[in-house]
Amino acid sequence: VDLNIGRKSALIVVDVQRDFCPGGTLAVSEGDEIIEPINNLIKAFTKNGLPVIFTRDWHPKNHSSFNEYGGLWPPHCIQNTPGAEFHPKLNVPKDAITISKATESNKDAYSGFEGTELANILRKLNVKNVFVSGLATDYCVKNTVIDALKNHFTTHIIIDCIRGVNLKLTDSDKAIRKMVSLGAKKISCERLAMSIRRVAVLSSS
Ligand SMILES: [Zn+2]
Repeated sequence: VDLNIGRKSALIVVDVQRDFCPGGTLAVSEGDEIIEPINNLIKAFTKNGLPVIFTRDWHPKNHSSFNEYGGLWPPHCIQNTPGAEFHPKLNVPKDAITISKATESNKDAYSGFEGTELANILRKLNVKNVFVSGLATDYCVKNTVIDALKNHFTTHIIIDCIRGVNLKLTDSDKAIRKMVSLGAKKISCERLAMSIRRVAVLSSS
């Protein structure tokens, strides 16, 4: 990780919502275990003036991805219901940028870039490197990473800040291999936090 990381990096937190965490309608196993490390990163990024962007699934109640409408999933993340809220332990800053996706009944979107302003927002912020965390590895994280690469961002997967659905046991591993094969880099939460802090020290001295 080079020092360029400092000025042009953004943290993307994908879909850390109640319904995707234990107790929710589409819970990802251990989904809540990533919240504490993500909070540490949110702190490191915001302290250094770097943007943090939160995506959320934000479905109408008759969304086409729901079982009763022919989709793959139980109802989840229905607009303005508790299940769609960010997990209460996630530290979402007051001025955070939130990207709502799959907001129309007949369209699904696993990627935070799909049908949203995310790419434009990142470009306006002069972001070159994106660091992706959140839920779930094998769906929304994977597709967000792939679209970040398509949009020519240098894209990192924060490997210990993601969890997968794993309908098949190997789905997450497969997703990670796919992202890496397309050009994504892997980084740990600790190493990323260290890089951000080191840059902060260097640029203030
Ligand atoms: Zn959804």
